[in-house]
Amino acid sequence: MTIPKCLNGFYASPVAANTAEKWIIGVIGQDILLANNADIKSNPFIDCNVAQQLDVFCKRKITLGQWLSRDCEVWDLTPEADSTDGFNTAVLRDLLAIAGEEVFSLACRAVQLLNWQDTHRFCGRCGQPNQATHKEHAMVCTSCNINNYPRISPCIIVVVTHGDRCLLARNASWASGRFSALAGFLEAGESAEQALHREVFEEVGVNINNIRYIGSQSWPYPGQLMLGFIAQATSEEIKVDGIEIAEANWFHYKQLPEKIAPPGIIAGALIKQFVDEATLIYG
Ligand SMILES: [Zn+2]
Repeated sequence: MTIPKCLNGFYASPVAANTAEKWIIGVIGQDILLANNADIKSNPFIDCNVAQQLDVFCKRKITLGQWLSRDCEVWDLTPEADSTDGFNTAVLRDLLAIAGEEVFSLACRAVQLLNWQDTHRFCGRCGQPNQATHKEHAMVCTSCNINNYPRISPCIIVVVTHGDRCLLARNASWASGRFSALAGFLEAGESAEQALHREVFEEVGVNINNIRYIGSQSWPYPGQLMLGFIAQATSEEIKVDGIEIAEANWFHYKQLPEKIAPPGIIAGALIKQFVDEATLIYG
């Protein structure tokens, strides 16, 4: 089989091209197993020859597709794989901060596909077992033939601005001092814009307009697509809901809280964009 034309070096397919060499993405629970000397930014995945010693810990293998002219396989590993010499595990959130966009995207896809197969073993319509198909990454019911695809749940995340300040909030489950953009899942039937108005009003009691879409980021717990926005506030008074949000404040662009997300994470990217724009306007 010839390797199909790839977008950003990656072609998604459950079918192996049977290349001589493969990349192995080792997954332990929700963490990624990396070789100690791995180049985390551009390609931290494991060469198949090196991965052979991990085969004994492998519960399941899924072909993810082809990457950089090689087959790319996900190995679902038992926790014991972590103590193999020459390897260490990386938490996906940490990988987000240090790995390149393609690497993070593949790691997310790997974790998400395993999790999705685990939670879709039976048909939601008739209750009979599902089976992975070989045509695409789908689970098909062995009885009624319905296809199930990996579920993606869209979420909005927004930095609300008011002149030279932005509104950041602390989730009730976070440690003191940690602040971020407001975020929430879309409800059934909602547009992203409607979700933005609703979430911001529900969480902090602020009205918004001039919504601008900035960019998106995948997050595999359990399959979120974060849609990132910047919006302007039309009201200033903050009334936190006291349930999801413990506190929220307006922060001057030169006096942001210490504990905010880095720019590699979409919340951090939105905050950075606000700061860059405010710097241009206010100096
Ligand atoms: Zn069925």
